[in-house]
Amino acid sequence: MADYRKMWESLGLDLESHDQLMNVLPTTYGSVYMSQENRPEGMEYFDFVVSEVHGQRIQELQDHKAAGGKVIGAFCVYVPEEIVRAAGGIQVGLCSGVEIGTAQAEKVLPRNICPLIKSFMGFKLGKVCPYFESCNMVVGETTCDGKKKAFEILNDFVPVHVMETPQMKREKDKALWLSEVQDFLATVEEYTGNKVTAESLRQAIKDTNAKRRALLRLNELRRHDPAPISGKDCLLIEQISMYDDVPRFTAQVNALCDELEVRVKEGKGVAVTGAPRLILSGTPMALPNWKVPHVIETSGAVIVAEEMCTGLRYFENLVPEEEETVEQMVEAIAGRYLDINCACFTPNDGRMEKIVSLAGEMKADGVINCTLAFCDPYLVEANRVTKALQEHNIPLLNLETDYGQEDSAQIKTRVEAFLEMLGNR
Ligand code: SF4
Ligand code: SF4
Repeated sequence: MADYRKMWESLGLDLESHDQLMNVLPTTYGSVYMSQENRPEGMEYFDFVVSEVHGQRIQELQDHKAAGGKVIGAFCVYVPEEIVRAAGGIQVGLCSGVEIGTAQAEKVLPRNICPLIKSFMGFKLGKVCPYFESCNMVVGETTCDGKKKAFEILNDFVPVHVMETPQMKREKDKALWLSEVQDFLATVEEYTGNKVTAESLRQAIKDTNAKRRALLRLNELRRHDPAPISGKDCLLIEQISMYDDVPRFTAQVNALCDELEVRVKEGKGVAVTGAPRLILSGTPMALPNWKVPHVIETSGAVIVAEEMCTGLRYFENLVPEEEETVEQMVEAIAGRYLDINCACFTPNDGRMEKIVSLAGEMKADGVINCTLAFCDPYLVEANRVTKALQEHNIPLLNLETDYGQEDSAQIKTRVEAFLEMLGNR
């Protein structure tokens, strides 16, 4: 890796804490990713992206800013990246998938709050994330109570624009959400100093759709048995999709899919034919949270889909491309985003229907519903998931975990017991 210390220093990072983070990542990555056998060659690009996670991409963001561009951070797949792109900005997902800066975070947050919220606060207060420190503005949403209140505190440290996400999907909620997306467009225009035109928005919709199509194509290829790629690798790609350069990422995913198509024709896979096929559902698994997928795939199963925001919820729906005016396109964007099935909505039947249909499409043997500790929306919704899957006779394992490694052995025992039960069916 090139020497990026000067850049990190100029971003105001706490270099000592940052070094600790950067020392842990290669070891974890090595044991989780590089230990896999029979990986597709196309994963080399994504390995490179991780090796440069605080290097090359951060340099690109600085170059963009030096040329007058803006960087906007987001924590939720409800933030419409098409609008930021159309205004010449770069949107980055602020990952929050590791326990860091906990002591600082707990000075402003209660101890028993979701690890994702604690993580993003820890990242900001601990000054360890160059993505966070590159952001001119971050976008919050009123999805869950913890996040919405945490954004008030975060606003003391970085400008936060909060979008009001409705809690239901009735006509009046759709109207509210549309007005929020319109306001977001006005805020982004003001921040970037660039007007969103019909031409720029159309292009941004096309670029983002192309990225989502590439991810859909990748997901389709996982229907095959043996699965041509591991769930861990797919999760990594989905995590990287949140911050990588859009056209470059799209091209790399498509190149990987070309390779996977050949693998499928040749009957090559990452797991043996007939290995138990599982769907992973639940709260997002932000980079570098790979704990549960690693446990699952080192226990002999293969993950064939992620019904999560770092997964299908991010790319399953496209924005219609035939609209002509900015107003029509904004309406189409608002409609696409409101179709995301987050547990913050009530009822959230679309999610149950999706998990059931996905299990059939992907020929899954079972579902693992994994929720972050203290996440009320998803923990309570586990009841609805259980009921829906029981009705369709689909085996389910509910897990609750955090970012620590202490429960890995216990999770492994439960996953192995679940796989044994699947084997006896
Ligand atoms: S789970 Fe809900 S709040 Fe979290 S990223 Fe997904 S849509 Fe946003
Ligand atoms: S995981 Fe749950 S509690 Fe945590 S930010 Fe997402 S919705 Fe909120």
